[in-house]
Amino acid sequence: MRKGICVVCGRELAVFTCKLCGAFIGPACYDPASGTCIKCRKGRMMP
Ligand SMILES: [Zn+2]
Ligand SMILES: [Zn+2]
Repeated sequence: MRKGICVVCGRELAVFTCKLCGAFIGPACYDPASGTCIKCRKGRMMP
């Protein structure tokens, strides 16, 4: 188990948790406006 590593890109340090899927994600893969990862954000397209 790779604790602390972003599960989206696998490179950066994970400091956020997606509130939709619960994935640990880094700043580059996190959308502060929606509180989700970029994967979930693409699916929802919230403005
Ligand atoms: Zn990432
Ligand atoms: Zn997510």
